[in-house]
Amino acid sequence: MADEFRNGGSKVRVVRLFGQRDDAGAWQIRDFLKRSVVEFQWIELSTEEDFCRELGLSDLRNVNLPVVELPDGTRLFGPTLRDVADRLGFVTKPKLRQYDVSIYGAGPAGLSAAVYAASEGLSTVLIERSAVGGQAGTTSMIENYMGFPQGINGGDLAERARQQAVKFGVELLMMQEGVKSTFHDDRIWTDLADGGTMVARANVCSTGVEWRRLNLPNEDKLLGRGVYYGAGASEAPLCGGEDVYVVGGGNSAGQAVMHLAKYARSVTMLVRDKALAASMSQYLSERILGATNVRVQYDVEITGLDGGQALERIRIGSRTTTEAKWAATPRARALLPGDRGPGLLRRRGCAPPLDQARRHRSG
Ligand SMILES: Cc1cc2nc3c(=O)[nH]c(=O)nc-3n(C[C@H](O)[C@H](O)[C@H](O)COP(=O)(O)OP(=O)(O)OC[C@H]3O[C@@H](n4cnc5c(N)ncnc54)[C@H](O)[C@@H]3O)c2cc1C
Repeated sequence: MADEFRNGGSKVRVVRLFGQRDDAGAWQIRDFLKRSVVEFQWIELSTEEDFCRELGLSDLRNVNLPVVELPDGTRLFGPTLRDVADRLGFVTKPKLRQYDVSIYGAGPAGLSAAVYAASEGLSTVLIERSAVGGQAGTTSMIENYMGFPQGINGGDLAERARQQAVKFGVELLMMQEGVKSTFHDDRIWTDLADGGTMVARANVCSTGVEWRRLNLPNEDKLLGRGVYYGAGASEAPLCGGEDVYVVGGGNSAGQAVMHLAKYARSVTMLVRDKALAASMSQYLSERILGATNVRVQYDVEITGLDGGQALERIRIGSRTTTEAKWAATPRARALLPGDRGPGLLRRRGCAPPLDQARRHRSG
């Protein structure tokens, strides 16, 4: 069922999403649909009259926002991501009682592992807690991936990989998260967040990175309301005429800057280092430095967030002096890769404690 909603299908059915501009729930659903290559229309409603007209309701009391309208006309009021994924047919139950390989995380690493494992005839299950594609699914363009000389949209790359994996028989379980693994009876048993258990002969933990938080006051309140982590390809078209900020100096931040610059009036990149060269590919830094509406501020960091219902301004501080100033902006996006080591894998639950792993290897 899920394929009929995905871009590129012969009879794609369009989902409609109604909501308010700075609503964090609407942003989460937009981001998920975009990363999952689901064709959707975003209908932004600013006044009560808009809502009544577009939704055909006479009264907005007791209406939970946002509203997702499925192609058959069913409406979901204030749904969770899982509700939406479920209704699109993305959420399924495992078919087998145990697998040769269970893979946690369906970013590029997990998708590759799934394709290779299943193509060798191993029964393979791929478990993803959110959207297929991981970080790669959030970027508008990947240019250094072999086989795509013109570059490829990250969501499209992930969708091709998903199709390839499914073709080889990989079972994809979405909206599922590994929370704790243990070894016994020569198998690895992983507890899933929904209370289920996955049993396999081997686990692959391809859970990527967590974005590092800014750790600033107001961050939680403004998250999804002008403050975002990651690239968020779904948001770029909504930045028309805005002055937006990107925090970070790596390739992912660079890709996000170039994509946002197609829509925003200006994009300012806030970089902690004194140059881009240390952390960014040359082809990308050349483009950033050549873009007329992109500005790079070096040796700075974001030190404050301020706003009521949504972000209104950010504070930018020098890293070497006490100088700091507030800049008005409706959007700031942080792309600061965080922890990727074994600690993260264990916190994410799909790597068993080391002593168990050692016992298993030697036993
Ligand atoms: C904006 C942007 C642009 C980029 N551009 C480029 C580029 O042009 N070229 C390039 O080479 N690289 C690029 N990158 C980097 C590239 O996307 C990453 O290196 C790559 O995605 C890492 O793949 P991964 O599979 O290891 O991890 P991720 O992509 O981080 O995927 C990890 C997945 O695991 C899932 N997960 C985490 N924990 C669990 C759990 N417990 N259970 C189930 N699932 C879990 C996550 O939801 C996620 O989907 C870019 C990144 C970004 C953000």
